[in-house]
Amino acid sequence: MDIFRVLSRGASLRKSKQYSADFSLPTQGELSTETRKEKTLQHEIDKETDFFHTKRSTNIEPQDQHQLATDEPANVVTEVPEVPPLQISTEEDAATFRKINKSKVSGNDIPMPIGSFEDLISRYDINKKLLDNLLRSEFVEPTPIQCESVPAILNERDLIACAPTGSGKTLAYLIPLLQKFTATPPVKNSGIKCLIISPTNELATQIFQNLDILSRGFNLKLGILSKQLANKLTEKSVNSDKHDILVATPLRLIGLIKSESINLSKVQNLVVDEADKLFEQGFLQQTDTILASLNSKNVQKTMFSATIPSGVEEICQAIMIDPLRVIIGHKEAASNTIDQKLIFTGNEEGKLLAIRQLIQDGEFKPSIIIFLQSIIRAKSLFHELLYDKLNVDVIHAERTPKQREEVIKRFKNGDIWVLITTDVLARGVDFKGVNLVINYDVPQSAQAYVHRIGRTGRGGKQGKAITFFTKEDNKLVKPIINVMKQSGCESGYSEWMENIDKLTKKDKQLLKKNQITRKGISTVPKVVSHKRKQKQQMIEASKRRKHMETEEAASE
Ligand code: ADP
Ligand code: MG
Repeated sequence: MDIFRVLSRGASLRKSKQYSADFSLPTQGELSTETRKEKTLQHEIDKETDFFHTKRSTNIEPQDQHQLATDEPANVVTEVPEVPPLQISTEEDAATFRKINKSKVSGNDIPMPIGSFEDLISRYDINKKLLDNLLRSEFVEPTPIQCESVPAILNERDLIACAPTGSGKTLAYLIPLLQKFTATPPVKNSGIKCLIISPTNELATQIFQNLDILSRGFNLKLGILSKQLANKLTEKSVNSDKHDILVATPLRLIGLIKSESINLSKVQNLVVDEADKLFEQGFLQQTDTILASLNSKNVQKTMFSATIPSGVEEICQAIMIDPLRVIIGHKEAASNTIDQKLIFTGNEEGKLLAIRQLIQDGEFKPSIIIFLQSIIRAKSLFHELLYDKLNVDVIHAERTPKQREEVIKRFKNGDIWVLITTDVLARGVDFKGVNLVINYDVPQSAQAYVHRIGRTGRGGKQGKAITFFTKEDNKLVKPIINVMKQSGCESGYSEWMENIDKLTKKDKQLLKKNQITRKGISTVPKVVSHKRKQKQQMIEASKRRKHMETEEAASE
């Protein structure tokens, strides 16, 4: 099996200069004995859960590292070599690689995965600028979903891809799409060739930023369907044909389709990010209208998410041609970088006490995201925690895009430690360094749970997720315990919690429509809140008076 090659230390993709100067691979010889291969394979299996291969140079026993490269006695001090990157050249290699990564790929005529960025160079002749842009991001190796989806997309296949939160799905479609663009550069102003749809503006902005970085130096016109761009397209002061790639949310796009202000007839690639969300009730009709406005026979369709329920998969299969289906890990599991825990708080009041307990126990380490089930509850918790002098802010659908953008920026900078939000931020958004996610209210489904807690433990980092529940949440707990089991977090809940009622089909349908009615959050006694209100009214009245006085003085 010619799968493992020993490359020199210079082969590390962190060293972008070497690749910039010389595009050929620095090979230094191959492992000669089966023993060495087995050792390397064993190491690969040890790090199987390490999506980002952060353990490549740190997790092997120094003695083993030594033996892998030189076969000399361990007490000879020499430079510690890195584990070689994988190159996959046979079906046997591919099968071993998939076993290690827990990747399941089905469909007709499945292409072999890439095992490393080196494979991208040797097998797909990756564009030099694109590789340089990747190297600048300091990515050492492609993640399992990138290894599978890059060949699938480059082989013009429709694709349904399911991989854990934070495992690099954005690049899994951006790398092959940009490679395609560089192989056949589009004629200027010849229409939108690639359309990427995402459920929220925050996620669309993030995808656009990734796209912008990765396509640096290419002569491509990228667009994000902001309010301003939508207005310009409606007024016809800008022609949509001038964009090569467009990132959009469904609602704005529908508006333009309906007013015939956008031309999607030239789209060749469609990416639906967070596909299951976009095929859920509420979005389904919009997604359907978008699909109908494409020249469907010529469009390569790719759907990505961390959760793809079978109903959604059926829809995807129906609209795709001979698709490939890639599942990394377990379909119903959360990322294994997240330590999950369930806490019974008895009643609503118990939740605030539990937060204060976490603070006391030193478990409340910023940055933290707290999810609640409604805007009104998110606002109440925000006011409550303000009094605890925690550095908090809140994002929900009632805040303006500018306010949301500002809060996100401050949270990313570390100016805000605790971000309170609703499911509006549950999908896709990549905040680096979120230590803890708290589900103050239990999410309504296993999918919502996986996406919410997926805001931590991203990019190979460790994270923690705590879910509070009360006696009213009995039925919601079972799906969460199932996810915890699938993700190997059995120690995060007590045995008695497993015996809580299961949801019937009818319960699930009811829950989709209605949320659980909960008691309000505030612990402030009514007299105090009345006084606060009176004080606020007095301040506002005094402001109004001052304003009128200044206006009067100015008119005299
Ligand atoms: P997902 O869409 O699967 O939730 P993202 O695409 O948002 O995940 O990526 C999560 C994080 O991982 C991002 O910060 C991204 O920059 C990083 N990332 C992506 N690909 C790699 C890679 N090959 N090596 C290291 N980090 C990566
Ligand atoms: Mg994503």
